[in-house]
Amino acid sequence: MKFALVNEQRQEAQPNLFGACPACGHPMLAKCGKVRIWHWAHKGGRTCDPWWENETEWHRAWKGHFPSEWQEVVHQGHNGEKHIADVKTNQGWVLEFQHSHIKPEERQSRDSFYSKLIWIVDGTRRKRDVTQFRDAWSQGTPVGRNTFLRKVFLDDCALLREWSDSRAAVFFDFGKDLNLFCLIANGKDKLGHVFCFSRGMLINLLRGGNMQDFEALLQDARASTTARGR
Ligand SMILES: [Zn+2]
Repeated sequence: MKFALVNEQRQEAQPNLFGACPACGHPMLAKCGKVRIWHWAHKGGRTCDPWWENETEWHRAWKGHFPSEWQEVVHQGHNGEKHIADVKTNQGWVLEFQHSHIKPEERQSRDSFYSKLIWIVDGTRRKRDVTQFRDAWSQGTPVGRNTFLRKVFLDDCALLREWSDSRAAVFFDFGKDLNLFCLIANGKDKLGHVFCFSRGMLINLLRGGNMQDFEALLQDARASTTARGR
């Protein structure tokens, strides 16, 4: 984790620092080695949040686009279950940055735990994904006059297929030189909507933009995907 409580204050890991987990209160050790990014780990290695993924530079770069008090926010569900959201905005949107493979059951649990969820998926982990996605996008059909929105076939792209039944907004990040792409699908239809989004646009939107427009955009795309599927 990036933050632990040191004298009740959230702090980043520094050599020889001891802290406590903001979610469970367990002692945490600052891990400041040469290989992995500096981070906090639960003493004894146990992790209180089974959804927690080891952080990479990629995670940290994404978190760093948002105020530190929005990062690693402990979120408690109605049943008392606690999880640490990578980022939670002041408008209640949770961002989860996913680098490694995630099992469908865990993804679905997170989809239902957070009511306003945006996934940002590292699209560079598997080499074939970028190529497959590029093909799917270039063969997609533009929707109306909007050159940033296309209907695409999901079947030929593993990444799109794997995420097509998520009820959240799923953004794919293919590296900092490329735009982000947001998938809206219903998990049944072979077609989904994909929006091309600049990174800056998404970050600005989340940092204080009008999220109602974004929600309306998602709803419209979802409604038209569902209508097309009938
Ligand atoms: Zn903990």
